[in-house]
Amino acid sequence: RQGDVRLSLQGVDAFYGQIQALRGVSLEVRQGEIVTLLGSNGAGKSTTLKTISGLVRARQGDVCLEGESIARLPAHQIARRGVVHVPEGRRVLRGLTVKENLELGAFTLKDNALRRQRLEEVYALFPILHERRHQDGSLLSGGQQQMLAMGRALMHGPNVMLLDEPSMGLAPKLVTEIMRIIKRLNEAGTTILLVEQNARLALRLAHYAYVIENGEIRMQGDAAAMREDASVVKAYLGLG
Ligand code: ATP
Repeated sequence: RQGDVRLSLQGVDAFYGQIQALRGVSLEVRQGEIVTLLGSNGAGKSTTLKTISGLVRARQGDVCLEGESIARLPAHQIARRGVVHVPEGRRVLRGLTVKENLELGAFTLKDNALRRQRLEEVYALFPILHERRHQDGSLLSGGQQQMLAMGRALMHGPNVMLLDEPSMGLAPKLVTEIMRIIKRLNEAGTTILLVEQNARLALRLAHYAYVIENGEIRMQGDAAAMREDASVVKAYLGLG
């Protein structure tokens, strides 16, 4: 793997009350990579992202951004450092227009010119959001809401994007569209950690992959090699 380590987890344990969701999770995301975290329902994928963005605290271990611990920082400060989380389920705010939803993503930006520029960039990437900018965000289709959630994250000007199941519930055509956009964002310089249940799709897009099971990292490797690995194919790609 090439590039400097941007983000790393080292031996992270995380709990919900008494329930242990992560057990000694270690992983690395390097500059310019798309890294995917694969696993079945309840394996700990979302919790891993939440531990990075500060929504869940690591009880053991450390989370570092460019070698500096962010494990004790409040979520808004982590976002301010360029790590932006697009949660599962999109969380589009009802009663706000598409444009207002996007502007909310830039609440940390004091510079109005920069905010306008980012808005233009988001509209260029997702023309449908421009068309619908005066409509209530909650009236968008599922795929458009996913675009809005990603657009809102992009308003922060992220260095690292944490994407939680962006393909969930979308028609195949929209999934292809979202994946194309993720690839484009990555090529434009955004480092991406992508959580997916659709392993086949994620392995086509990613450079490197981790597999999590029961809160533990069980496997890791180049995405291309994982696609060929018989045990991965059998367990995660649904082929015998
Ligand atoms: P999914 O795709 O279903 O969200 P996941 O791999 O993202 O799966 P997590 O959501 O990280 O899994 O959940 C890991 C474990 O933590 C599961 O056993 C889950 O039941 C538990 N868990 C997650 N959120 C909570 C919560 N708020 N309270 C209690 N337990 C939780």
